[in-house]
Amino acid sequence: MMIIMHPEATQFEIDNVVAEVEAKGWQTHISNSSGETMIGLQGQGQPIDPFHVGQMPGVRDAMAITQKFKLASRAFRRENTTFRVGDVAIGSEQLAIMAGPCSVESRAQLLETAHAVKEAGARFLRGGAYKPRTSPYSFQGMGEQGLELLAEARAATGLPVVTEVMSPTKVALVAIYADVLQIGARNMQNYDLLNAVGRAHKPVLLKRGMSATIEDLLMAAEYILAHGNNRVMLCERGIRTFDNKYTRNTFDINAIPLLKELTHLPVIADPSHAVGVRRHVGSMSLAGLAAGADGLIIETHPNPDQAVSDGDQSLTLPEFAGLMARINAMAAAVGRTI
Ligand code: PEP
Ligand code: MN
Repeated sequence: MMIIMHPEATQFEIDNVVAEVEAKGWQTHISNSSGETMIGLQGQGQPIDPFHVGQMPGVRDAMAITQKFKLASRAFRRENTTFRVGDVAIGSEQLAIMAGPCSVESRAQLLETAHAVKEAGARFLRGGAYKPRTSPYSFQGMGEQGLELLAEARAATGLPVVTEVMSPTKVALVAIYADVLQIGARNMQNYDLLNAVGRAHKPVLLKRGMSATIEDLLMAAEYILAHGNNRVMLCERGIRTFDNKYTRNTFDINAIPLLKELTHLPVIADPSHAVGVRRHVGSMSLAGLAAGADGLIIETHPNPDQAVSDGDQSLTLPEFAGLMARINAMAAAVGRTI
């Protein structure tokens, strides 16, 4: 159940409601959004009558949330969640366009990419310093040196940095450099990691696991929200299906409008990992926006054939600039701005 207090409810009234439901064996999760205190009930207490609670002083509304995910649900928060990173209000009508290499490889590679994507109109720089690779013999990322390069690229361009954190023990370090903490598909159900980024004071980009259902993704987001971090965006990056001959994954476009219906959290599309084939990244970017995504994360590289990871799906810098013109046209068609 979710209890929404009046904006002018007093602390005494809030405490009174909390005491009433805790006496019935429930744990409470208190959050505050746009001036309204919300009391979420968690655990297994005695039944509570929403009508009775709804009559208590200071209460505006009380409702049962039947979905397994509570804090992430539209029932919990009807309006879209929006939060500002750099000069973009993520989740608003403004699209969040993120671009950059799969891996940070060198100062020259990163700075050239950062300046080019900024010039083309991207608002965020992406780049992995810690890389989750299928093979232990593949490039594993530059680590902290990569984070330092990302910070240098941010200083040079003003673009906020999106970068992956793979381990709970690295969250504090990555959070020093990152503006957005990325949780990769392979770690979507690493609950220790979700709890750790839930306690961090940085926005999170949570990628859908390659075989995760929509509900699995929302339950993963619930971990982050339940630990007090409300700045979460979800990312559809393609799922595993039976055909991997021509594409890397299957872009689940369905997931975008579905997520927008089920949750108030912003949804970002990753056409690069979704299709995995450079020449189709453009059309999948437009498809993601047409489906209602709040932004895109696109891999770009000065020389994709030389990339140490995901070169096949990375756009060249001129290709990215060309795509931005089409993204601008699509944004206008769906009533969004860049
Ligand atoms: C990435 O963004 O480079 C990445 C590793 O993505 P995913 O976790 O979606 O595979
Ligand atoms: Mn990648």
